[in-house]
Amino acid sequence: MQTHEIRRRFLDHFVRAGHAEVPSASLVLDDPNLLFVNAGMVPFKPYFLGQETPEHATATSIQKCVRTLDIEEVGITTRHNTFFQMAGNFSFGDYFKEGAIRHAWSLLTSSVDDGGFGIDPGLLWVTVYLDDDEAYGIWRDVVGVPEGRIQRRGMADNYWSMGVPGPCGPCSEIFYDRGPAYGVEGGPEADEDRYIEIWNLVFMQNERGEGTGKDAFEILGPLPKQSIDTGMGIERVAFLLQGVENVYETDLLRPVIDTAERLSGTRYGVDSASDVRFRVIADHARTAYMLISDGVTPGNEGRGYILRRLLRRIVRSVRLLGATGDTMAEFMATVKEAIGPSFPETIAGYERIERIAVAEEIAFLKTLESGTQLFERAAEEARESGAATLSGRQAFALHDTHGFPIDLTLEMAAEAGLQVDEAGFRSLMSEQRARAKADSRSKKHAHADLSVYRDFLDAGETVFTGFTELTDESTLL
Ligand code: ATP
Ligand code: MG
Ligand code: MG
Ligand code: MG
Repeated sequence: MQTHEIRRRFLDHFVRAGHAEVPSASLVLDDPNLLFVNAGMVPFKPYFLGQETPEHATATSIQKCVRTLDIEEVGITTRHNTFFQMAGNFSFGDYFKEGAIRHAWSLLTSSVDDGGFGIDPGLLWVTVYLDDDEAYGIWRDVVGVPEGRIQRRGMADNYWSMGVPGPCGPCSEIFYDRGPAYGVEGGPEADEDRYIEIWNLVFMQNERGEGTGKDAFEILGPLPKQSIDTGMGIERVAFLLQGVENVYETDLLRPVIDTAERLSGTRYGVDSASDVRFRVIADHARTAYMLISDGVTPGNEGRGYILRRLLRRIVRSVRLLGATGDTMAEFMATVKEAIGPSFPETIAGYERIERIAVAEEIAFLKTLESGTQLFERAAEEARESGAATLSGRQAFALHDTHGFPIDLTLEMAAEAGLQVDEAGFRSLMSEQRARAKADSRSKKHAHADLSVYRDFLDAGETVFTGFTELTDESTLL
């Protein structure tokens, strides 16, 4: 079943049950605390908090989401995208646990002819929060899931909250068993690669009290109105229904892998390190496309920095696979072809998306070209002197002479089996900053010819924070 159809069936199922269909909000909301929308319920927050009254008691949507926290999983696990579509149904004081459970089960297991996904109920497992006997009872007695396929899990997995003060409550999740070829028996508690989480049902029933951390807060009395928030991953359902191996091989992302094969001359499915690169390219190309469409432009901090990292990682990855020319325009065109029909506004704004992505590629290729030779010389020197570390001075020289960003040096050093003296690099950077300050006080413009990456290095600590959040050398390869 194609992704467009999975989307349509989801919405139709809930509209038939009286839900108002709400379009996806932008990935970027006017909220300084939220980098990107990362769940379907985000646009409905004011209703759950009782700050606004919803027009309808129940709603359904397919929300665009970006989770930067999952970046390190991309290409490595079978199930994590940075951009994905979260399908949800919401009840604002209307139906509660039994309604949410029945709706989800019937969509997943109804036959394709009856508008469902036609999943064999024997492949589905469910989890409930430790003491949520009510949900346990509904799964067992109303739906008929055998006790052997219902697991109880603790707060870290099965308890949800939205900050203090705010609603909180237990959740119940639905998993799909891919079979013994994919891991050990024993349900999601034993193996989340074999048992793929597809749907999270959140039962908002209590007020959250003080305490920090995902599993260390107080649960206060009941809410005046119990509510439902659910999230089903469209890409995950697509990968399972399409019989492919992971979310990157579904109908919406596989075409990008095919384009990368063509541009690089390397085959997908032959070498596992290359395959991770192919999957990273597919994922990041789509995320970059969607972010630009929602108004993000490459920059040196915050949202723009995330986008910049994604675009640069595509460029690096495809070159490591063997491409020599520019590739970005082809990747963007491929993404448009695949996802455009679901998001027509991206087709209308395509020219701009391509222009911004391609400009970043051109700037980055320039940096790469000028710095690579010097990097190789530095690596050679380090090896010859028997050190497994590039000195802070060498990293600084790369930056200072070629505008080579430290994250790129770290990335390339990791590939070459070398460490980098980051502390030494930073201390030279702050010396330089101090000098620049003194210079500018005396009205000299020492930095007039900064290349694009010098700017963001000079921005200081934010760069390093972004790097830590976004990448891990071990997963960049
Ligand atoms: P996981 O444990 O697999 O990381 P999660 O528990 O973090 O998933 P939720 O926050 O419960 O996910 O989100 C609801 C649903 O959204 C999930 O059940 C899944 O189907 C989907 N989903 C979550 N994260 C991703 C992602 N990075 N890529 C694709 N789909 C996702
Ligand atoms: Mg997760
Ligand atoms: Mg989970
Ligand atoms: Mg979950």
